[in-house]
Amino acid sequence: MSEARNGKDRILEIGGISVPDLAKACGTPLFVYDEKELDQQMSDYKTYFRSDQFETEVIYASKAFTCKALLQMLDQNGLSLDVVSGGELYMAKQAGFPMERIYFHGNNKTDEEIKLALDLGCKTIVLDSLMECERVVTLADSKGCSTEVMIRINPGITAHTHKYIITGNLDSKFGVMFHDEETILKMLDLVKNSKFTTFTGFHAHIGSQIFDLRAYDAVIERLIKYIKKLNRDHKIEIECLDFGGGFGVRYTEEDQPNEVQEVCSRIIKKCEEELLKYDLHLKKIMIEPGRSIVAEAGNTIYQVGFMKKTPNKEYLFVDGGMTDNIRVALYDARYDCDLAEKMDREKEYRYTVAGKCCESGDILIEDAMLPKAETGDLLIVYGTGAYGYSMANNYNRISRPAVVFVKDGKARIVIKRESYSDQLRLEANEEVII
Ligand SMILES: *Cc1c(COP(=O)(O)O)cnc(C)c1O
Repeated sequence: MSEARNGKDRILEIGGISVPDLAKACGTPLFVYDEKELDQQMSDYKTYFRSDQFETEVIYASKAFTCKALLQMLDQNGLSLDVVSGGELYMAKQAGFPMERIYFHGNNKTDEEIKLALDLGCKTIVLDSLMECERVVTLADSKGCSTEVMIRINPGITAHTHKYIITGNLDSKFGVMFHDEETILKMLDLVKNSKFTTFTGFHAHIGSQIFDLRAYDAVIERLIKYIKKLNRDHKIEIECLDFGGGFGVRYTEEDQPNEVQEVCSRIIKKCEEELLKYDLHLKKIMIEPGRSIVAEAGNTIYQVGFMKKTPNKEYLFVDGGMTDNIRVALYDARYDCDLAEKMDREKEYRYTVAGKCCESGDILIEDAMLPKAETGDLLIVYGTGAYGYSMANNYNRISRPAVVFVKDGKARIVIKRESYSDQLRLEANEEVII
């Protein structure tokens, strides 16, 4: 759990540095990550996701948040990486992340992206459809580049949190429906007939912000039963299974996430049981946590600007908004907040915290209970470490915030604040030669 929100002093500290000091040195809005918490999450996954019956691999879903500093921490902790675009793959390469630990996902990879993965020697391409399979085989053959492939299966199990982040339903844009055996066999055939592609196993990812671990039990049961069937009917050998990510985190008091240890040991135990039941042996089991590694370690610091009363609300405007956190507008996401220099005061005022964008939906928190706020106060929103910066945008030409890592009283900028001129660096007036 985030240390920041348990602060007991009047002035909030993160990683041994007071929030006002951070704001003064780095400006606002500012993403602040507690490096110890990041490290702890990474090492907990590594420690607890273990079995003596098969190998295990923890693959971080880089879409939740990436930067070179984070990728280096992941590497040092021995985690692997999942990327879903050429851009994420390029970033990993630039950070020196080992290619033999990278998995390339995505439902519509371009030729350019597939070629980049082949050229860089990315370990595994996760095939999302039959068409993609054909393309990957063709490109691998024509380039003479080898790659391992997995197939993303839609296990037909939905882990419900919010309809926009459900991916396991029948009509999902992701993966091949598990009972569409014809398609799966065609894909396996294509892969087998190529000298350059090797099939290793199946992948499933059933949703996000999942608290009910029975959802994973169901996926494990279904996939292991399914590979037994493929094994029996078609003599197909499967080396590994990847059960995806989606482990829930605590955004507000209402969220009661499972401990990493509990999630890991439950998945491991369930796999061991099911494998035993079907007398199967697998080489490796994988999971792909994204959010649960970075969400709670990250917080956003804003400065309060103008305030306004309407008949039913009292608005508190901050110097960011949907440009640095679009999850509220997109998913009705909820967050907790505090005034970082008034931690000892009663929270007796009800505010609507809104951003500065020209969009009525640019609200960060409804009904935020806070002490009396004034212009210039620093507002901290907790648990913004996942899908905050990674979804940040330049709507209204608002510059992206800086990102700082803090630890033991030391702070380091890992992503600089975007300047106005940064925003103009792609402007051009070049004739197009047709
Ligand atoms: C998004 C995603 C994840 C990670 O989901 P979290 O909710 O961030 O844990 C893992 N695997 C795949 C394929 C994904 O698309």
